[in-house]
Amino acid sequence: MTSVSPLIDLYGLTRAELRGLVVSWDLSPVHAARLWNYLYWECVSSFEAMTELPARLRAKLSARCTLGVLPVAVETHSSDGYTQKFLLALSDAERIETVLMRYPGRITACISSQAGCAMGCVFCATGQRGFMRHLTVGEIVAQVVHVQRLLKAKGQRLRNLVLMGMGEPLHNYEAVMKAVDIFRDSSGLAIGARKITLSTVGVVPGIVRLADEGRSISLALSLHGATQEERLKLVPTAKRWPLDELMEACRYYIQKTGRNIFFEWTLIEGKNDSVENAHEVGRLLSGLGSQVNLIPLNPTSGYDGALTRTEAAKRFQAVLAEYGLPSTVRQRRGIDIAAGCGQLAATR
Ligand code: SAH
Ligand code: SF4
Repeated sequence: MTSVSPLIDLYGLTRAELRGLVVSWDLSPVHAARLWNYLYWECVSSFEAMTELPARLRAKLSARCTLGVLPVAVETHSSDGYTQKFLLALSDAERIETVLMRYPGRITACISSQAGCAMGCVFCATGQRGFMRHLTVGEIVAQVVHVQRLLKAKGQRLRNLVLMGMGEPLHNYEAVMKAVDIFRDSSGLAIGARKITLSTVGVVPGIVRLADEGRSISLALSLHGATQEERLKLVPTAKRWPLDELMEACRYYIQKTGRNIFFEWTLIEGKNDSVENAHEVGRLLSGLGSQVNLIPLNPTSGYDGALTRTEAAKRFQAVLAEYGLPSTVRQRRGIDIAAGCGQLAATR
């Protein structure tokens, strides 16, 4: 059994909450601003490093708070040098994955929202493990601070963020959105809303809520099957939120926010990569003007499926184009470090 820590995780607080905490200790809000700077600009990893704060504040912080720095349990690098993957240790026995991709001109972090996942997609290493627990706000934010600390040492800054690591972000809605607000804070990490992409398997109430709350982050939807019957074979959660309800939620999102949705399709040989499958996608999405991101399957030990051949992927793309749907095939760079969702954790 895990015990609940009475300490406050500073990475779980918005700037206003941090200010409130510091003021509640009879200290000036100026110090709160300096502290915020230490957390998100300098990305220091200990209270001792916050040398410009008054000693009384540092003593309070040490006694009442934690600086949720997540130790690296395993770190791997892709042979092309562009991708670094971290298995980060949480305060209980859980481990989560965070990935840093440094392609020329584009630096992106991929972070996790849960330890494990309850949605059970058959081809996904995280889904195969099952659900452990939700991540706290502090644990979600600390992943980004971890990569930003590394980037800062090289004079770089994180500009793009994808919530495509372990877990289903809309199943941990409150914590994820509070973390998103912390990422967007213009005097902190200052990551633009549109540069934050949340990928969901299709939690319908979460999509509707996101549309209503107007955070204007980018939304990606993992489709994988374009009829209810086909989708259900890969995505068990389609039983709870059937395809017609899901598409209705997507149309609502697009109409309400004026933003489009990216659709993701993991290509699996012989399962969902035929010309007919592509026509099904075309019929389902035509008129939405959306882009489709095709992801070649990363084979996992718990699923007997193979990745689509290049010719089949090209054929699939050509059919989508007939319906006016632009598509990309994700490059399999970084594959040698098990770049697929949850795969590093699964090998440990
Ligand atoms: N739970 C969310 C976000 C995490 S998964 C979601 O499902 O969208 C991020 C993406 O990786 C999803 O599109 C998912 O389908 C894909 N994915 C998971 N396992 C994969 C694998 N083994 N090979 C290829 N893509 C995979
Ligand atoms: Fe969960 Fe996404 Fe994996 Fe499905 S693909 S099991 S929703 S993490």
